[in-house]
Amino acid sequence: QTLLQATDLRRTYGNLPVLKGINLTIQSGEVVSVVGASGAGKSTLLHILGTLDRPDSGELVLAGESAFTLNDRELARFRNERIGFIFQFHNLLPEFTALENVCLPGFIAGKPEADVRKRAAELLTSLGLKDRIDHFPSQMSGGEQQRTAVARALINQPDIVFADEPSGNLDSQNAQELHQLFFNLRDQFGQTFVIVTHNQQLAELADRTLTIRDGQIGDTKNL
Ligand code: ADP
Ligand code: ADP
Repeated sequence: QTLLQATDLRRTYGNLPVLKGINLTIQSGEVVSVVGASGAGKSTLLHILGTLDRPDSGELVLAGESAFTLNDRELARFRNERIGFIFQFHNLLPEFTALENVCLPGFIAGKPEADVRKRAAELLTSLGLKDRIDHFPSQMSGGEQQRTAVARALINQPDIVFADEPSGNLDSQNAQELHQLFFNLRDQFGQTFVIVTHNQQLAELADRTLTIRDGQIGDTKNL
């Protein structure tokens, strides 16, 4: 089932064309890696596919919605409810506990507070963070912080999760555990992931690898 369809996405910064007409289809339940040289446009593409940024032209249909025809307010709501994000640096709010950080997108979506708290606690527990629920980010290790960020990305049961170098700041063991977590979530819940990574092992473990070069995209199916 097609979850995401991008048609002729273009993006220029000043007079630097970064995306020169990207066409792309992602199926529900796929884990897709995105690779390419530094400056090739991976983050630019991820931000546009995640609706954090608008393209100069082109269309994005995500979960049945033509995203860029929405106004900014509608798009922000759509993004919060349907899309999860994981960044290289966890971006957790330092003055909130793990539980509160994970709850936040659920509260913003206006879901009942008790339901959100319950799901957040269950998510943290299932990610091995039961005894970190009331800890602040500064009291957790890098691996724990990043798993908390994964729980936050999943709180609203998003259709798709975008990750930008999610293991870029982790040692190799924590990186491997995080990658395994992505595949477990895909196998158990059919969660779809699009992951920008320099980690070759992760890139090759993905179902497909998209390579960005000269503003265009190459698509390789991994065996
Ligand atoms: P990657 O993620 O592959 O390293 P980026 O998408 O971050 O590449 O950047 C692609 C190109 O666009 C780079 O040349 C970068 O300098 C440029 N760029 C990215 N964001 C901006 C911006 N906000 N303003 C101007 N140029 C930008
Ligand atoms: P992980 O494998 O999750 O990265 P570590 O082996 O790095 O965990 O750390 C083990 C324990 O030490 C963690 O459960 C965490 O509570 C604690 N810890 C690690 N780093 C920090 C830190 N910077 N500040 C406070 N506690 C930490």
